[in-house]
Amino acid sequence: MGSRMNKSWKEAQNRLAGGVNSPVRAFKAVGGHPIFMKSGKGAYLTDAANHKYVDLCLSWGALLLGHADPATIQAVKLQAEMGTSFGTATEMETTLAKQIQKAFPRIERLRFTSSGTEAVMSAVRVARGATDRKKILKFEGCYHGHADSLLVKAGSGLATFGSPDSSGVPAEIASLTAVLPYNDEKSLENFFKKNKDLACVIVEPIAANMGVVPGKKDFLSALRYWTKKTGAILIFDEVISGFRVAYGGAQHLYKITPDLTILGKIIGGGLPVGAFGGSAKIMNHLSPLGSVYQAGTLSGNPLSMKAGESVLSRLSPNFYNQLEKKSAHFEQKLKQIFANKKKAASITRIGSMFTVFYRESAPQNFTQVCDSDTNMFRRVFHGLLKKGIYTPPSAFEASFLSSSHGQTEILKVLGAFEAI
Ligand SMILES: *Cc1c(COP(=O)(O)O)cnc(C)c1O
Repeated sequence: MGSRMNKSWKEAQNRLAGGVNSPVRAFKAVGGHPIFMKSGKGAYLTDAANHKYVDLCLSWGALLLGHADPATIQAVKLQAEMGTSFGTATEMETTLAKQIQKAFPRIERLRFTSSGTEAVMSAVRVARGATDRKKILKFEGCYHGHADSLLVKAGSGLATFGSPDSSGVPAEIASLTAVLPYNDEKSLENFFKKNKDLACVIVEPIAANMGVVPGKKDFLSALRYWTKKTGAILIFDEVISGFRVAYGGAQHLYKITPDLTILGKIIGGGLPVGAFGGSAKIMNHLSPLGSVYQAGTLSGNPLSMKAGESVLSRLSPNFYNQLEKKSAHFEQKLKQIFANKKKAASITRIGSMFTVFYRESAPQNFTQVCDSDTNMFRRVFHGLLKKGIYTPPSAFEASFLSSSHGQTEILKVLGAFEAI
């Protein structure tokens, strides 16, 4: 890339920690330096030097309708003129809650936050408050935002309690978080036979933060079984999968109901948001009804509520059928390309999110994910970038299509893969 990007990157590094406000953006995993974007429209991003890219990152999946969707922008503009934050109750919050509950009927009560991280953090707190228990369980390779208790990856033994995976997380806090391999019913069973005092289990029912790794139905069913049996609260983190894989998220696809659901990304229409919710019984432990404290100056922010409302108002099962058709076609063509090239690649896809893993078979857990060819990923990433395709700059992330990706953009992406 040109001198403009070099200069921007140098300046950013002298002002921002590591030059970025979220680490993966720094391109460390792929080499080179980040591209500084200045605008987005539909399926496209435009960088500061006016190069255009078909965007398959879509703000990490937040933009289901693509960039700068006209109706969403109009809604945000209108609201901005009427005030951007009140710090009071507004009817907009109830409106968006109602739209979410239409798709997720098991969410009786919910609360909005400003990010997915906050929603996860608060859900874990309410789970601990409701059960009066301390320990939590998560799965290797699942990401739940950057709250202390969840930045714990893998204890080496199957049922051992973890050690901190990020410095700055005290071992005492990490020791309350157990980590098990994803998609492994046997280790679940062993674990729950010994641990009947968990406050909650948190899982991405369709993992998307180690690349797309769908949860096996048997694994999620076992999880539902063991949590019910031991009185642990089951939390589905659907920050990515919610409103992405189906109108009712992964819980609708699998027909498994968690006790709490976390949402984010799409429900804010590209503005900062998060939400968590579940039965009134659990959620009523929150202040002011209950003794679990949780709050936020900008929670339920009017701009986020209006953007979310605008997006959700246009979603329906039919919207997802069309997106599925387009995405399935894309997947099939991409598979053909790799087959013709005789390259080891396997594509995992659910709805409009997918990952190309450079290995022979689709991974089912984090160990298998790590056993893919990251050098190959780097080559492909930069090859695509040169041809005007922007994908997430890490081998272990999901890519996305939106309703604004048409035939032209899909052909462009396929052509770029073909040429590498
Ligand atoms: C993005 C994400 C989060 C964190 O949300 P932020 O808004 O980035 O804090 C949590 N869980 C999952 C599954 C996510 O994909």
